[in-house]
Amino acid sequence: MTSPKRILVSACLLGHAVRYDGKGKPLAHPLLERWKEEGRVVTICPEMAVGMPVPRPAAEIENGLSGEDVLCGRARVMEITGGDVSAEFIAGAEKAVAFAQANGCTHALLIDGSPSCGSGFIYDGSFAGKKLVGNGVTAALMARAGIAVYSDRQIEELAAVLGA
Ligand code: SF4
Repeated sequence: MTSPKRILVSACLLGHAVRYDGKGKPLAHPLLERWKEEGRVVTICPEMAVGMPVPRPAAEIENGLSGEDVLCGRARVMEITGGDVSAEFIAGAEKAVAFAQANGCTHALLIDGSPSCGSGFIYDGSFAGKKLVGNGVTAALMARAGIAVYSDRQIEELAAVLGA
């Protein structure tokens, strides 16, 4: 019998206070509770994994571009204060992928909207609250590495795919 699959989950979804605003964003869902009880949840915050502070300035991918564009050098991740944090975001994505692979995770549940973890939508770089369809940098690198990314709104789809 094969053991149930482990799932990589964004640290802020578990309530860890790692977001730019110093807060978590816990997902209260019975599936996540059960996976935790089963010891199947592993977690990382890609931004904190490379030493970014909490709190930190809000950041978005510039010019309506996406995490794939950042990985290809076509776009930068910019802080609202003007700092270029592209290198940190790429390094964080690399750490998150390596961590997922080291823990045998083929699936990830990442919070949507983040310039790192977003998979259904991200913000357009104007810091005006405008959403667009696209991946953050970590979600894009996970997809490249063959790790299936689901947003927090897709937890039931993920459970269906995992068969539990
Ligand atoms: S990088 Fe991901 S895990 Fe870390 S705070 Fe942002 S959304 Fe949450």
